[in-house]
Amino acid sequence: MERRVPVRTCIGCRTRKSKMELVRIAGRKPDMNDKDLTLVIDSDAGMDGRGVYLCKSMECFDRALKYKQFIRAFGTTVSDEQFVSLRHDFEKRMGENSEKR
Ligand SMILES: [Zn+2]
Repeated sequence: MERRVPVRTCIGCRTRKSKMELVRIAGRKPDMNDKDLTLVIDSDAGMDGRGVYLCKSMECFDRALKYKQFIRAFGTTVSDEQFVSLRHDFEKRMGENSEKR
């Protein structure tokens, strides 16, 4: 029997891939009244809240950023500072992944 692997779409390149090949970004509100979301890399894909998926690639991250896919997906405003820190974390994660190989 074939094992079904959950498939998600990368918001950068729109490619459908197995969940394992993607990085999940979760949006959380520290406070219910907060307008801005805090975007974090969800390493265990187990965080609450909305999430989006990206290939493990800076290209996809930047494309998603450029086309405001994050804002579209989360349906809220996200501050520039958030993106800067998220991009930094994402980049760091990419580095960790390649080191492990
Ligand atoms: Zn992608």
